[in-house]
Amino acid sequence: MTTVIPQPTGTDSSTSSERALPAELVKRLAARAVAGGAPSVEVAAPATGSKIVDLPQSSIEDIDKAFATARIAQREWAARPISERTAIFKRFHDLILSEQSEILDILQIETGKARTHAFDEVGDVAINARYYANASKSLLESRGRNGLLLFLTQVNEIKRPKGVVTIISPWNYPLALSASDAIPALIAGNAVISRPDNQTALTALWANELAERAGLPAGVWQVVLGRGSNIGGELISRADYVDYTGSTATGRHIAAQAASRLIGYSLELGGKNPMLVLADADIKKSAEGAIRACFSSAGQLCESMERIYVHTEAYDAFVKAFLAEVAKMELGADLAYNSDMGSLTFDRQLTAVSAHVEDARAKGATVLAGGKARPDLGPYFYEPTVLADVTPEMSVYRDETFGPVVSIYRVDSDDEAIEQANDTSYGLNACIFTRDTSRGRTIAAQLNSGAVNINEGFIAAWGSVDAPSGGLGDSGTGRRHGSEGILKYVDSQTIAAQHLLPVAPLPGMSDETWAQTMTFALRAMRFLGVK
Ligand code: NAD
Repeated sequence: MTTVIPQPTGTDSSTSSERALPAELVKRLAARAVAGGAPSVEVAAPATGSKIVDLPQSSIEDIDKAFATARIAQREWAARPISERTAIFKRFHDLILSEQSEILDILQIETGKARTHAFDEVGDVAINARYYANASKSLLESRGRNGLLLFLTQVNEIKRPKGVVTIISPWNYPLALSASDAIPALIAGNAVISRPDNQTALTALWANELAERAGLPAGVWQVVLGRGSNIGGELISRADYVDYTGSTATGRHIAAQAASRLIGYSLELGGKNPMLVLADADIKKSAEGAIRACFSSAGQLCESMERIYVHTEAYDAFVKAFLAEVAKMELGADLAYNSDMGSLTFDRQLTAVSAHVEDARAKGATVLAGGKARPDLGPYFYEPTVLADVTPEMSVYRDETFGPVVSIYRVDSDDEAIEQANDTSYGLNACIFTRDTSRGRTIAAQLNSGAVNINEGFIAAWGSVDAPSGGLGDSGTGRRHGSEGILKYVDSQTIAAQHLLPVAPLPGMSDETWAQTMTFALRAMRFLGVK
């Protein structure tokens, strides 16, 4: 495996030639948070271990202030025509593309990921901004509905914003998972209070600043800061809807808190995602696809593949080709497009990844590639790792690793691949490599997974934002993207106007005659096929 030691310069149009962010930028972004009432926390860059910022934290008073501001700002915001709201996100789209160098630097420094994986996030936000700016008007507009009595009952369904939406987002895809969820919530007329992870708060604050530069009024989207276990409950106790992305354990906790207040929630949680390589797969494409599918953001991606089931006829060729691709990977997190994979983000990620690999090794797994940390590159670098001979006693068999570790299994048939792929409590993402797309679709429909990609790892489904994205089982509930990704942020209100006659006996009519008249009318409507 080749390595790229983190270098101090970038070769693209990066605004930063240093591995540290400009002090003025850090200060300006940190000052945007509604925070300062609680002691600050120090945040360090994963790839180098050097300090990024002393990050202010939000107190209960800060949170109260943010909600009070949001409630006032939301009323004025929701009263604006939707065309004004969407125009802001068209400008936001253009700005994020033209100013990507700065956010790519921030993203890389906060997460330790390679620039190419940071760019995936910029692309994601641009796609969501474009989609919801163009699609929301028709998704949110008032709709006429059939009334109880033909012509006499006139019904409209309108969409009302929930009010103040809280988005609690994690550290692994901090731009995509904060901004891309905020966009539809805001376009729907809500105020948003984001709680990004401390590790990646500057990324969310940058997006928040950019939205105001695009025309979003102050106070409509605010950012508060704090550990989830400290302030998560405070946010949920004040919000009208909560969006959470993170672990299944925390997701259950958040669901219970939201349920106790009878507010809606959307949870995107963990996964143990399977990749199927069928007997007829294009081996080269499968091997290259597996690199993207398994090692994007060093596997710290909920959609990442951690299990590969290869048909016995393709097994030897696939393993050989995949290992050749892994051997070519360059590790590093320099601020340029030089590296194929960056660092893990935390010490605890490194500990968890190492523990899975050591447990597997001790119980008889074969390490085909990687299997060790790379402290020579930075404190949390870990090599892309491929395991074989993995058995159910090993943690890596069933538990999510959330790191650059994938296990390969040989299967004798498609049915066996499907059965093994479905042997999990999760159901977020899956992928199938085959030359026969229609066979791929048939198999896809048998996989218990919110998304299935054919001949791609995750980005084909994830990036097709007109279609919903979300998990089955322990991978969560609720959807982002598509119509569901915005309609979750509104309540439907039915307005029914009764004309000429009441829905009651006419003057002088007995209840019995009324019941007979209605019985006749109901039969007639059934006969006429009225909906
Ligand atoms: P975690 O659930 O502990 O933390 C994720 C985020 O939730 C963090 O920002 C944290 O501050 C916040 N959080 C924690 N407790 C909270 C609470 N009580 N209320 C509100 N927020 C709270 O997960 P982790 O250990 O940081 O990450 C690893 C796990 O998270 C993996 O299992 C992975 O699947 C999952 N994860 C999934 C995604 C995804 O995109 N679906 C993203 C990140 C992490």
